[in-house]
Amino acid sequence: MPAYPTTTKYGFQYLGNSSPTKMEVHDLHCEKPQCQISEILRAGHAVRFAPDTLAEAKRLGYDNCAYCIGGSTR
Ligand SMILES: [Zn+2]
Repeated sequence: MPAYPTTTKYGFQYLGNSSPTKMEVHDLHCEKPQCQISEILRAGHAVRFAPDTLAEAKRLGYDNCAYCIGGSTR
């Protein structure tokens, strides 16, 4: 499974926001307050990737978070 739901932000690096209006990926090693990771988890929109790489997130259509990764293409 390339992306699957998670209820924690620990144990991996790249967390996706699967909300249809967001579809963004965050780098938890560079997490910023603006990422609002806890909000994503609370909303049930958090996913992780297998493999846990930015390339996999991009392949699935997730855009870079402007705060922790940068280079958003939107
Ligand atoms: Zn972020």
